[in-house]
Amino acid sequence: MPKTDGGRVVADLKRLAEFGRYKTGVHRPTYSAEDVASRQWLAGKFAEAGLDPVIDGIGNVIGRHPHASRRLLVGSHSETQPRGGWLDGALGVIYGLELARAFAADSALAGLGIEAVAWADEEGHYGNMLGSRSFTDTLSDAEIDTATSREGTTLRQALAEAGFAGRPREIVDPSRYLGYLEAHIEQGDRLDSSGLRIGIVEAIIGSWNYWVTLTGEQNHAGTTQMSRRKDAGVALVRLADRIHDRFAAIAGPQTVWTIGRMMLDPNAPSIVPGRAEMQVQFRDTDTDVLARFEEALDGLVAESDRAGPCRCTIAALSKSEPAAMDPGFQSLIEAAAERHAPGGHLRMPSGAGHDAQILSRRMRSGMMFVPSLNGISHHWAEDTKEEDIVLGAQVFADAAAAILQAG
Ligand SMILES: [Zn+2]
Repeated sequence: MPKTDGGRVVADLKRLAEFGRYKTGVHRPTYSAEDVASRQWLAGKFAEAGLDPVIDGIGNVIGRHPHASRRLLVGSHSETQPRGGWLDGALGVIYGLELARAFAADSALAGLGIEAVAWADEEGHYGNMLGSRSFTDTLSDAEIDTATSREGTTLRQALAEAGFAGRPREIVDPSRYLGYLEAHIEQGDRLDSSGLRIGIVEAIIGSWNYWVTLTGEQNHAGTTQMSRRKDAGVALVRLADRIHDRFAAIAGPQTVWTIGRMMLDPNAPSIVPGRAEMQVQFRDTDTDVLARFEEALDGLVAESDRAGPCRCTIAALSKSEPAAMDPGFQSLIEAAAERHAPGGHLRMPSGAGHDAQILSRRMRSGMMFVPSLNGISHHWAEDTKEEDIVLGAQVFADAAAAILQAG
């Protein structure tokens, strides 16, 4: 079995966190100067590990193994959320690097190759999982042409300033790999709150998103009689209440739903709102549950529209499909976890999206979680116990070896 060096893993994570350090976290948006410098640093580390690194036309850093006969692709994304944490993405990238080094150092594993990867822009500064979608050939040039950051920088401009413009984008040949493995911090608190140390991801949730609009009649809050009002705000909160009740009645064991945005127009204290909008989202690993939620939501919107006095319409914004992780990979990750942390692991869904959901459309994929302290992520305070980082690397390496040996 490969032998990982926990001290080296922690040291590399700390070094990577220096690129864009913010308090105890990191501010390293995709294609920022710090992000570009960190990708060049990673390419150098991949080369030191004996891989042939390339930074491609979308910013993916890929370390190719020069002569393996069986290969696993292992990594995650390396940019961060604004003022985000030091481990989100970085952990999986440095684990990929460490696995490449551990395999290269073990002559019993000759012929088994780890190819490390740092995807670009999983965090969506410019688009939705740009790097892994580019690699799996589901990102069009037209989308690259139109993508912009929230600050208004175009993706083309950002790629040019990063020095990546004009480089070819690497596209996967799925026959090159036995599969893809990604390690990540859990981001939730299921592991941390129950004292568990390893999560084995069964599936990554699908997220379906809708925009619901209520149209009434804007008018004076003092002179408009109650019986004559078409108050879009009242209609909105009543509908939101019914949505929560209905969803609770039909939810699966893992379903989560959120109304994260509500807006009143004109949103003034002395005006009856003429228009109200909300964004409704639900997530589950089961497409049947997602379809059931959609049907329920459509029904409630139609009911509200019929009941009046406000018009109620709905538009779907986006629907990502759930992605199942490979059952064989799950078993081998679980067996490795049981060896190093007997009874200290859990099979679980991923409530957050990850590059593995994109890769899983092209090859067998697996994901492993380490605990997030207090379930905090997407915040500079995000952290994981050092002993869990160290243990996770060894479990992950054992699982990768077992997958490569099984073929
Ligand atoms: Zn992440």
